Parts: sequence; C-alpha cells; structure tokens
Amino acid sequence: MAINTVLGRCEPRDLGFTLIHEHLTAGMPGWEFDNARFDRARELANIVERLKEIRSLGVSSFVDPCPMELGRNPELAAEAADKSGMRVIIATGVYNEALGFPTHFRMIGADDIAEIYVRELTEGIDHTGIRAGIIKTATGGVPGWTVDTEITRHEQKALRAAARAHKATGAPILCHNNELSPFGRETLDIFQSEGVDFNRVLIGHACGVGNMRYYFDILNRGAWLGFDRFGIDTIAPDKMRLASLFGLLAVGFDRIMLSHDAVACMLGRQSKAMLQMIEKCPNWNYAHICRNILPALRKGGVAEQTIQKLTVDNPREYFGG
Ligand SMILES: [Zn+2]
Repeated sequence: MAINTVLGRCEPRDLGFTLIHEHLTAGMPGWEFDNARFDRARELANIVERLKEIRSLGVSSFVDPCPMELGRNPELAAEAADKSGMRVIIATGVYNEALGFPTHFRMIGADDIAEIYVRELTEGIDHTGIRAGIIKTATGGVPGWTVDTEITRHEQKALRAAARAHKATGAPILCHNNELSPFGRETLDIFQSEGVDFNRVLIGHACGVGNMRYYFDILNRGAWLGFDRFGIDTIAPDKMRLASLFGLLAVGFDRIMLSHDAVACMLGRQSKAMLQMIEKCPNWNYAHICRNILPALRKGGVAEQTIQKLTVDNPREYFGG
C-alpha cells in the first residue's frame, strides 16, 4: 500500500535505507511561548545540511514520529525534504501523559481521537494538505522524573485510538516507551484486544531497556523492536545496545530497526539537564549509525544481508511492502 510522505505518496519498495525514528524539530508543549529566537531560515538550512549529510551516507528515507503537540512542523518538513532530496514521513498521534497529551484530548473519547488521526492520515494536517504517514503512541513516565507503574487511562485511550486509525487507514503504529518502565507488552495487549496486526507495530526505544525477556516477549508476538536511541549514552551506552543487538541477531531475531531519536532543531530554550545530556552524548546525531554502528556490526561479524534487513527490508515490510 502507498505511504504518505510530506511531498506525496511513495511505495514501500521506494523507501530504501530508512532511519525509523528521528526528529527534524521537537519542543515540549509551551515552547511556542518561548520562540522569540526561532530563526526559521537558519534552522531550515541546518536541517537541510544534516539531511544532505546522511543522504551522502546512503540514507534515503527518514521517519519523524513527532507527536502533534511536540513542535511538529509539516511545512518545514516538506521544505526540508524538497531541498535535501530526503524522503520524509511524519506522524499523527499524541505524546505520553507525563510530558504531553493536550487537555482537549483528555476530554474526548477514543473514537473522537481516532477520527482526528484518520483525518490527518487521509486529508492532511491542519490546512496544509500534508498527510501523516504513521501513527505515534507514547506511554510511561520520564526517567529520573516520574516513573509510572502502569499505562495511564488517557494513554490507554490514545492506544485504542491509534489501533482504530490504523485499522481504518493501514498506516503503521510506532510506540514510544521509556526505558525504566517500558510498557511494550502491555501496549501489545491493548492492540490485541483491538485486533491489530503486530506486523504493523514497532515497539520503540527498546535498545535502552537491556532485558532479553522483554525482547523475546515482544518479538515472539510478531511485533518489531526499535533499537532507535543509538548515541544517547546517558540513558544506556551504545555498548549495551550493541550487546543486546548482537545477542538477538545471533539467535535469529532480526525484526529490529535502527535509529537515533536525534533532533536537528530543538525548539525553545533548553533546560540545564538537556544541555548536559547533549554535551555527554557527542554521537547523538543522524549520522552515527552509518559512521559508527554499522561498522561495529560488520566488525562483530554481522553479515551484509542482515544489515540490509535491519536498514532496508524491515522498514519496507513494516510499511506494508
Ligand atoms: Zn522520538
């Protein structure tokens, strides 16, 4: 089935090497009240330069699953795609309750939210005519800030909305989980009760969890795992992410996709904690997998065919090809 990119449709076979979870722009709700210094032309030029860099390293598609309330900018994304030659896919969906989930969405039902998602997937976002190509969900608290013991009531509602929008449109679902209280399994339970095909579900941010039982539980149910935070050493060192990845590949689990969750343009001023994190994570950028992680996999004996699967074949199958 056709995929919505910010510049029109493409087919899954057109995707090629895909980074499954990156961000062009991102800001916490409220950033727009702190945007006096936002220089659109300068930010766009920086984004285009970074996209061109990874184009030159062989990346041809870029999924930005920014939720609707975290600084998603469809027009900027379309311009960046046009100027860089990168295929860009953006998302509909809301973030977790700890950091996002606009009040309006707390007050309406799952079917109402699903209707909003479907509209963004089929007609376009706001009045831009730019369609979302993927559905984002998010659960769990914030490491070091809040740790939830279960998926919240509103998050459950948004998971059901995502499932229903997926069934209405065929768009895949991409799930954010936090590393300390990852609810990948519970997320799948809700999707199962909604009749979702797990071949179209990516349980994200798994690489920082480091728990084989968690990985096996998800992969054995047929969903995809996102090893999508390479370079964020403050959450988990790349060595730990790689140890899990090598282990899974060695026993034949390869339904995994790779990314960094990197952000080219952070909106609003940054907190001290975020500035420290950026300083401690010098490899947290779009090019790290091409420059360092794939060579590490090759050095560890991972076959070219497997690397092709992680970067090209798996995204294609996940998008329905
Ligand atoms: Zn993200």
